[in-house]
Amino acid sequence: LLQLPHTVERAVAVATAGRHHLLLLGPRGSGKSQALEWRSTLEPPASRELLLRHQLIAELGQSLTEAEEGPVPIRRVSSQVRAAALVGNIANHLIRPGEFALANGGLLLADELPEWSRDSREALREPLERGRVALTRVQGSLELPASFVFAGTGNLCACGGWPPDIPVPGQFKSWITKKAAIRCQCRPAVRAAYLSRLSGPILDRIDFVLLALPVPPEDGDQSAVRERVARLRERIEAARERLRARWGSHPGAMAANEVQALLEAHPAWKKILDDGRSPTLRSRHKIARIALSLAAWDGLEEPTEGTFAEAALYRAENLGLEDARRLE
Ligand SMILES: [Zn+2]
Repeated sequence: LLQLPHTVERAVAVATAGRHHLLLLGPRGSGKSQALEWRSTLEPPASRELLLRHQLIAELGQSLTEAEEGPVPIRRVSSQVRAAALVGNIANHLIRPGEFALANGGLLLADELPEWSRDSREALREPLERGRVALTRVQGSLELPASFVFAGTGNLCACGGWPPDIPVPGQFKSWITKKAAIRCQCRPAVRAAYLSRLSGPILDRIDFVLLALPVPPEDGDQSAVRERVARLRERIEAARERLRARWGSHPGAMAANEVQALLEAHPAWKKILDDGRSPTLRSRHKIARIALSLAAWDGLEEPTEGTFAEAALYRAENLGLEDARRLE
């Protein structure tokens, strides 16, 4: 493991604590895959109940020998993954769970989400929305639980060189720019088409959307990195505990009506969010979810105005995807 820039490490750790879906975007060479490695390393151990449930699902497909890492189910899918392998199927009276069901209760790690086929991207919607997946079947229907935390990466154009200038949040307030490692070769229309793969329903389900920055890899003193991981894992478990005790669940898993009820019960939060620049209710809910996790991470009783301001930085709306699309 290589060290992460401070802001990326913070966001990845807080997303882990609150069990938020996470998407890391940026040009090639920006350390996105490295951040994804950290995400899987930081995941706390699974409960006994979760492990049992996972085994029951895995046994359906007699796939116990399949590669399975870590204490919680962690499934890695490549950009070539076919929708059928994600969803699973029933054939010859045998249930074959796909990657979604096998990731239940754990993590689904996806490199290069925009490179997924349209069918695969479409298939991701159902588990992200309902935490379940319907298996392909000729007659009737059968569903398996598929409630996982999604963590993925993606380029912002086909060649991986976009954007040329990257805004860097310094202390979350002042913005400077940094040159990308390579120059984008894509025609604007091609770039716009590529970005449109990230639009809509998938992005709607993902709380944390980060722009990763090209940083020269620090030659990691591995013992220092291990120590850092151990400290973060302790802090993540403490924050999860605090979140469960305070709000009854993990913010990343809160339904819209739960978030709305919290906002109604805390008029000051609602006012901050309504005064902010977030255009939609869905977006305000996401900022609220992130703010709850940030507050727990920082040991605050409740999110403050500053917490909400930081939370808003992790939203896709801040990445200028819309502007990039309009360049066409
Ligand atoms: Zn490009």
